[in-house]
Amino acid sequence: MRGLAGPVMVEVFTVATRDAKQCLDITASVDAIVRRSGAASGLCHVMVLHATAAIAINENDDPNIGVDLLRALDQAVPDHDGWLHDQIDNNAHAHIKAAIVGPSETIPIEKGELVLGRWQGIMLLEFDGPRPQRRVAVRILRDG
Ligand code: ZN
Repeated sequence: MRGLAGPVMVEVFTVATRDAKQCLDITASVDAIVRRSGAASGLCHVMVLHATAAIAINENDDPNIGVDLLRALDQAVPDHDGWLHDQIDNNAHAHIKAAIVGPSETIPIEKGELVLGRWQGIMLLEFDGPRPQRRVAVRILRDG
């Protein structure tokens, strides 16, 4: 069915995180893949391939937004608060936050560029770092 299943391109890139909890702007890496794809219009799906990290779209200008977001999530889901999974590998809080925020975002592509608002960036949220490699899959679905 024309228009539903255009050409698809998938690329996976990795990022290192340096803190136990961190908000990392990955917009430039995703943007580079969109440009390389040559897609004029379509959708860009960004998914972190881990159960203790998440993807969010949020303000990219003031880095304190990320700090505040991490603190708010800490308040909602305290570390080691009697979580059952802590008996296995002590990172239940990270799994719960990852599930609440979610692993992916979908961003429109128009005129060969990601359609993001003036203050919006694509953020990888680390909840169980630091990790030398967090894998992010970017899938470009081209229109037509
Ligand atoms: Zn775990």
